[in-house]
Amino acid sequence: MNWEDNIRRAVPYTPGEQPQGKGIIKLNTNENPYPPAPGVEKLLREMDSDSLRLYPDPDARELTETLAKYYGLRPAQIFVGVGSDDVLAMAFLTFFHSGRPILFPDITYSFYDVWAGLFQIPYRECPLDGDFRLRTEDYLQENGGIIFPNPNAPTGILEPLEKVEEILRANPGVVVIVDEAYIDFGGVSCLPLLEKYDNLLVVQTFSKSRSLAGMRIGFAMGGEKLITYLKNVKFSFNSYTMNRTALALGVEAVKDDAYFKNCNARIVETRERIKKELLKLDFTFMDSRANFIFAAHKRVPGARLFAELKERGIFVRHWEKPRIADHIRITIGTEEQMDRLLEALREILASCG
Ligand SMILES: *Cc1c(COP(=O)(O)O)cnc(C)c1O
Repeated sequence: MNWEDNIRRAVPYTPGEQPQGKGIIKLNTNENPYPPAPGVEKLLREMDSDSLRLYPDPDARELTETLAKYYGLRPAQIFVGVGSDDVLAMAFLTFFHSGRPILFPDITYSFYDVWAGLFQIPYRECPLDGDFRLRTEDYLQENGGIIFPNPNAPTGILEPLEKVEEILRANPGVVVIVDEAYIDFGGVSCLPLLEKYDNLLVVQTFSKSRSLAGMRIGFAMGGEKLITYLKNVKFSFNSYTMNRTALALGVEAVKDDAYFKNCNARIVETRERIKKELLKLDFTFMDSRANFIFAAHKRVPGARLFAELKERGIFVRHWEKPRIADHIRITIGTEEQMDRLLEALREILASCG
């Protein structure tokens, strides 16, 4: 017997590059170009060694209560974790346990098939239609659970609430997870549906709209029963997943709602301006409601654009995958960063004839 025959093998997720260096423009992992709320930085500076020395509150009570109040829910309806990746992984492990295939779109967040692989959950990828939209009928087949982002990544397309509800109505026997990582950039959240559907789990994150990707804070909202099951699995792993700093800074970020809304509005405004500019440069793209645009050029392939931009110190995301290899995903940065991107694109397109 060889020890290598009896281990768990995993095909890991590949995150976007984190290039180091001065003058680099990072538009490849959907981070927020603006700093977190001023109160967050202030609190971080005031922290003393107790936040290092002591264990954190395993119930994350303050953060949970703050989020519950903000979203009009009860604290028992909130589950927090180390980024929504942690929350989603726990949710896969907890809720997708039937042996029947779970369903998600063929073009979507590329962590879903990684978790399914790791936890040995069978899955079926449902092809988006020609316009990269979710086809409701695909989610009416027998399944062991459903997950999709709304807006979807990397397309940026927001599906209407009616479509989300149609899927929920057809699937009372499984847990349906809606990954709302990008909902704050002008989307309509399906949170109100929690009242009607106790099998709905809505997952959000502080990484994008709250400028705290480095802190790792994510959360899920759902019925109390669902949340209790999640907590039981989490506490079977590790009681102290979130550190004291993240817990405290998360609370502070939620407190400053004016700052939050203002930053999001700025990003949306920049996104809409860039859409117009990209059209002038012969790009085609879907109507993104996220903090990125997924665009293809009419003549120049995605791989070429990606490489040429990288050469100029501008990082975007590109996948060499069927159906989307011609696209690049561009995170919305500051106005200035986006002007430099446009300038680089004009130069590249001119040299490509
Ligand atoms: C960014 C992202 C996440 C994970 O975000 P965290 O930083 O782990 O909170 C989850 N789902 C989608 C669709 C994302 O784009």
